[in-house]
Amino acid sequence: MVKIVKEIAEWKEIKRSLGHSSLGFVPTMGALHKGHVSLMERSVRENDYTLASIFVNPTQFNDPSDLENYPETLTDDIKKLEEAGVDFLFLPNKEMMYPDGYRYIITENSLSRKFCGAHRPGHFDGVLSIVMKLLNIAGAGKCYMGEKDWQQYLLIKGMAEAFFMKTEIVPCPLIREEDGLAYSSRNALLTPDERKKAPLLYQILSSGKELNEMEELLNKEGFKVDYLERFEERILIAAFLGKVRLIDNVQG
Ligand code: AMP
Repeated sequence: MVKIVKEIAEWKEIKRSLGHSSLGFVPTMGALHKGHVSLMERSVRENDYTLASIFVNPTQFNDPSDLENYPETLTDDIKKLEEAGVDFLFLPNKEMMYPDGYRYIITENSLSRKFCGAHRPGHFDGVLSIVMKLLNIAGAGKCYMGEKDWQQYLLIKGMAEAFFMKTEIVPCPLIREEDGLAYSSRNALLTPDERKKAPLLYQILSSGKELNEMEELLNKEGFKVDYLERFEERILIAAFLGKVRLIDNVQG
């Protein structure tokens, strides 16, 4: 059974009772899929205990309708956490996580301005601030992050190092559906036609063609590319398909 913890003080008590046992932590925004589950399973394998969190963090949404439409599937999520062997689920609310009303903000002023940061103002401030809070509350030895959000992973790892935080940030491989589409909570928001077209994003991204050729092909297929750029031996992309913004990355 996964134990649901809604209060910070309650978690602190439980954490104390775990003594010197190892603890892995997996922060999420819920609507869990196989990508999330792979992080949970890795943490369960590598630690005595695993804590997951579900919190749809309002400060990282620059578009209010994106926040409003974010899928919520808590009953299913709990089932998946149980199947994965997760021990604890931290389910905080907004007031608890922002006692300061978001006066204090963690900002990175270089990488966070590029790629997703250039198109979603304030997004990474929100991400870094909430992850700093969650890491401080969790008190875990390791935190598992997906390479699906490559830029986010780099920024969180950098933050943990810059602030001498005690948690090690562990990168985990990007998990894809059978047709190549990267698992994402937002995939559920695609229309059936868009869902059929969505795997083209990965197919074109991994085609080995020049970036401008890829962009042309994607535009022709009806994607609206936000950015498509090489960064440290990876190719990063964000593109809209209808109203849904998809991100992906490959080695290249
Ligand atoms: P989210 O719920 O979107 O905030 O994601 C929570 C964690 O799951 C983040 O570390 C993501 O990078 C990771 N994640 C999301 N999708 C995938 C995926 N397809 N493969 C691997 N990790 C993922």
